[in-house]
Amino acid sequence: MIFPFPHKIYDDVTCIRPGFLHERGIKGLLLDIDGTLAQTRDPQPSKEVREWLELMKSEGIKLFILSNNKSPVRTESYARLIGCDWRHKSRKPSTLGFLDAAERLGLKPSELAIVGDQIYTDVLGGLRSGMTTLMVQSTDTYLWYFPLRRFVELPFRFERGNI
Ligand SMILES: [Mg+2]
Repeated sequence: MIFPFPHKIYDDVTCIRPGFLHERGIKGLLLDIDGTLAQTRDPQPSKEVREWLELMKSEGIKLFILSNNKSPVRTESYARLIGCDWRHKSRKPSTLGFLDAAERLGLKPSELAIVGDQIYTDVLGGLRSGMTTLMVQSTDTYLWYFPLRRFVELPFRFERGNI
């Protein structure tokens, strides 16, 4: 039984600093799109997020888009923009997509962190795969079901505290 507390909780992705990743031996990030890099309907990330992605790349951090989107179109367009590999229909919290991404990046799960906005997909799947889990406050607060999602996540919205 895994209690899906994330290792770290950030206000947004740009708060994740390269120094922290280097210290922890994290060489790659698996990135969720919706609610994490941008709002669910945004065609591309903000300027700040694009700059953060460039910073990560310049620091030698490998990037991979790991999305549960059913259509490949949105996932691929984000991946093209960022210039990284990608996977749609990942069925997070299944470990399948996480481990496939690790293999494609040539990195061990312990060298990877998932960056996502949801406890029961991103965080749970990352923990089950042996990865560091970096949760961000969702940008999808405008969704009608957001309060419900937040409510069911409440018990686990605390950092693990062992990082
Ligand atoms: Mg998301």
